Amino acid sequence: MRTVAVFGATGSIGGSALDVIARHPQRYRASALSANDDVAGLVALCTQFRPDIAIIANPAHYASLRDSLSRAGLATAALAGADALVDVAASDVCDTLVAAIVGAAGLRSTLAAAHAGKRILLANKESIVVAGALLMQAVAASGAELLPIDSEHNAIYQCLPVPAIGGAVSLAVRRIVLTASGGPFRGWSRAKLEQVTPEQACAHPTWHMGRKISVDSATLMNKGLELIEARWLFDIQPDNIEVFVHPQSIVHSLVDYVDGSTLAQLGNPDMRTALAFGLAWPERIDSGVPALDLLSIGRLDFEPPDLDAFPCLRLAREALCAGPTATTVLNAANEVAVSAFLQGRLGFLDIPAVLETVLERVQDHSADDVSALLEKDAWARREAAQWLTRSEARH
Ligand code: NAD
Ligand code: MG
Repeated sequence: MRTVAVFGATGSIGGSALDVIARHPQRYRASALSANDDVAGLVALCTQFRPDIAIIANPAHYASLRDSLSRAGLATAALAGADALVDVAASDVCDTLVAAIVGAAGLRSTLAAAHAGKRILLANKESIVVAGALLMQAVAASGAELLPIDSEHNAIYQCLPVPAIGGAVSLAVRRIVLTASGGPFRGWSRAKLEQVTPEQACAHPTWHMGRKISVDSATLMNKGLELIEARWLFDIQPDNIEVFVHPQSIVHSLVDYVDGSTLAQLGNPDMRTALAFGLAWPERIDSGVPALDLLSIGRLDFEPPDLDAFPCLRLAREALCAGPTATTVLNAANEVAVSAFLQGRLGFLDIPAVLETVLERVQDHSADDVSALLEKDAWARREAAQWLTRSEARH
């Protein structure tokens, strides 16, 4: 029986992970669940899954969580705060972590699970963007099992020779191709993008996801973050990673081999496939996802990304080539910009503008430990916030 901590349990990925877990009660037990603010949502999940521990990341909600669990007659213990996430990820409460917190807020618990040698189902791509080298070192040192959940990286993992994580990608691999849906604004010009609203940006054509990643998909920053994620997961050079826009979201990614073979993984756009893969690996289990019906899909299209209308992908590639602190800064500034866009404080095209300004101001590209990276993260958030204040003063 695997004991699984689902961090970010109230989110889109958390819900899909719990759906798969609920299908296999003989194999998996959700032993710890976490949320940021949503006490009612977390308690409802505790009523269904009866975990040992529930963690509310925002400590202001601790008493409310504790009282609600006890009113519901549950034996689940209440914990609160970011340190509790770190402690539980490393503890005997779980042997597996579904890392499904959104943003750099997921980094410390993911790293803790890596140091403790856990199986990690990594959805939280921001943690590997912020601290890719350190996370991979921790995984290698402890023997943790890092299984990519991002659908593209999960696809690549399935197309690479085993073991795919940790060692340099085989010399037999010529390149990997990440597919991108293109988001809700595929084919739009820069001029047309000027006025788009958060609701339009969050209306993704093929995937149902949290609001932050939905905006990232609309700007193509999601693919930029995934480029950086692929570089670290598979130890592959940026020049050997390409992006194709594939609007149907059926081919989740491809690997080209030197002999001319291309392997791809296909499936319906439903994250339960990757989560079931990560839970059961190296076995396969039912995920609840229906079989792919290629005859009714009929055609699969591919086109190059438009880097002029969607400069975030270019900025991410440049940051990756500049060095590890540049990607930390890129991610932090993007989190601030996306949050401001969702609050109606920033235009859609201002998101890359914020990133470009903050990236230009990065002076020092070295950072050897987590605290140095977190300082860079904090610096970039301040810089992006100042950009916002200046821009609001102009209007
Ligand atoms: P979501 O917004 O639906 O859920 C986020 C979860 O994180 C919630 O449970 C929330 O309570 C928690 N959370 C938010 N801020 C927190 C904080 N500061 N501290 C602790 N917990 C916090 O997001 P999602 O769509 O489920 O995405 C989660 C992660 O998975 C992201 O990194 C995203 O990029 C990645 N991902 C998502 C999908 C998808 O299909 N949704 C696909 C690939 C990768
Ligand atoms: Mg993805």
